[in-house]
Amino acid sequence: MSPAPISPVDGPLLEVTESRTADVGGIMVRRALRRHGRRTVGAWCFADHMGPASGQGGLSIGPHPHIGLQTVTWLFEGEVLHRDSLGSEQPIRPGQLNLMTAGHGVSHSEEAPSGGGSRVHGMQLWVAQPSSTREGQPAFEHHAALPVAELPGCRATVLVGALAGMRSSARTDSDHFGADLTIDRRTTIPIEAHHEHAVVVATGRIRIGTSVVEPGHLAYLAPGRDELPLDADVQSRLLLLGGSPFTETISMWWNYVARSTAEISQAHADWTARAARFGTVASPLDPIDVPPPPWTEPGGR
Ligand code: MN
Repeated sequence: MSPAPISPVDGPLLEVTESRTADVGGIMVRRALRRHGRRTVGAWCFADHMGPASGQGGLSIGPHPHIGLQTVTWLFEGEVLHRDSLGSEQPIRPGQLNLMTAGHGVSHSEEAPSGGGSRVHGMQLWVAQPSSTREGQPAFEHHAALPVAELPGCRATVLVGALAGMRSSARTDSDHFGADLTIDRRTTIPIEAHHEHAVVVATGRIRIGTSVVEPGHLAYLAPGRDELPLDADVQSRLLLLGGSPFTETISMWWNYVARSTAEISQAHADWTARAARFGTVASPLDPIDVPPPPWTEPGGR
């Protein structure tokens, strides 16, 4: 069932929707994107708010494939070990950006750190790659330090793209940005009028106009603003995601972002056959397999 808008419109469209919950690798997640009727915000096409949770084993997701997207893993608490088919083995810690570009094909695992599981609280986001790069080579970046913009009432860490004059050196294939904002009073964020935006609250509670946005909500803001006033009466932390509306129509199923069901069927057949396209991950966890997509080839839904 699609979540219904639960707020009125304030100025250029502001719409607050409730996330769906799901279990991912033993951790409760609140899936803010994708949403029925609005698949992308800029090039952002997926947003899971993971935890906070103190699962026995921590996060445990065996090797699985991706195509046509970048994964952005961002932790508020805890630690996750990233391994991928490029040979990367990288602990992810709070404040560090883990950015994997799938292109034509990559696989990775997300594991509890050795020494046991810990509390996990973070966001996993996907960015749809544009046609100019989506069939290219996979890549991995880890950014241990990121630029910070200090604004009145707000401290903003810029993960990708630029905000308030600070630009991350992380790879971007389209005009989008993402930032982690800590807010403790009224603040005004300078934004690009041609961008659309999403606010996903991790902790606390903020107000945008007359709308209250809490964990488990996604606030969508249409283009047409050059500033974003946010109010917090408790210290609150949120992700601000934005970008130029993504003009390519994407197909998404399981871990694949493509342009057609045929492409997805091929990718899934390749993964199931353990084709070289997706490489191998040196993980102690078993690879994840799921049944083929629900449509019959050729054609699609
Ligand atoms: Mn993944």
